[in-house]
Amino acid sequence: MKWNDPEYNKYIDEIHENIEFHEWTLKEKFRKNKFNTESICCLQMADKIFDSLDKKRNIKYGDVDVVINKWTDGTYGIPIHDGGTSIIEINFCPWCGQNLTDKKASR
Ligand SMILES: [Zn+2]
Repeated sequence: MKWNDPEYNKYIDEIHENIEFHEWTLKEKFRKNKFNTESICCLQMADKIFDSLDKKRNIKYGDVDVVINKWTDGTYGIPIHDGGTSIIEINFCPWCGQNLTDKKASR
């Protein structure tokens, strides 16, 4: 498909609609679960943080589905699934590029 093909534009429109729907679904999920996303930079990050917590909002350690953790002091990290609790601390959001240490410093 070429970029100026009407079919291509239709395809792009559909992707955008899907993104909007996806974002809406995420917001609904956070709202229903009373999950506070105020301090989180973007929806993708919020979704991953949400998935990293158990029902009591505690960090799930050793869960291979968890790709990112956020601690109450504002530290973000990628868990290393080596059976322990090692992490690689990250300073920027992998999805939106936000500097995550800004918020940490302001606490
Ligand atoms: Zn982000």
